[in-house]
Amino acid sequence: MNLILLGAPGAGKGTQAEIICNKLGIPAISTGNIIREALKNQTPLGLQAKSYMDSGDLVPDTIIIGIIKERLAQDDCKEGFILDGVPRTVPQAEALDEMGVVIDKVIDIEVADADIIKRLSGRRVCESCGSSYHVHYNPPVNEGVCNACGGKLITRKDDQPETIRERLNVYHTQTEPLKDYYAKTGKLKIVQGQEELSETTKLTLAALEA
Ligand code: ADP
Ligand code: ZN
Repeated sequence: MNLILLGAPGAGKGTQAEIICNKLGIPAISTGNIIREALKNQTPLGLQAKSYMDSGDLVPDTIIIGIIKERLAQDDCKEGFILDGVPRTVPQAEALDEMGVVIDKVIDIEVADADIIKRLSGRRVCESCGSSYHVHYNPPVNEGVCNACGGKLITRKDDQPETIRERLNVYHTQTEPLKDYYAKTGKLKIVQGQEELSETTKLTLAALEA
């Protein structure tokens, strides 16, 4: 099963991707996590992406397409994969089509902008493995510590209020058109994001089976 998770930043794509990944045994691929890892290791990719990311803008399509080509060529993607945060523009979606990647389902998690702002400001991510938490909605067992790996939880630089507004803006203008793109293929399933994480999971799993 080849899946795409669509939705605004903070809609809960990453969290649902991890759950589906464990359930179906296919890798969840987050371009955001790949770029953050590159940044941490100060690779050429990381250095190129930094300024875009810090200001809440998209990293150029050519860079993203290169990343995704390389990642999907790896062995663990043979039985399927979940794309989280990619494609994020129409040219990225077209590039996947041109690569011959067949997408089975696209799940769009819908959340109102006001709720996104509340969520992102409380988001914390693991510095080591990228798992994400929320101070109210999904707190770790021990404050500031990752359940999965014991790493330190931090606030992302792009989760600052002004940057959140810019990311929402970018989402509405550049990413939202993908809903139409995939609706035309009949693969789009819409899930209304719920305040309770587990409720969103139920709806997401139901959409996978529908
Ligand atoms: P979120 O979904 O919370 O906005 P991500 O972790 O998916 O965050 O991405 C963080 C940042 O990484 C984005 O704001 C953007 O700068 C960059 N990025 C990640 N994926 C893509 C992509 N597919 N296309 C362009 N930029 C991307
Ligand atoms: Zn961790």
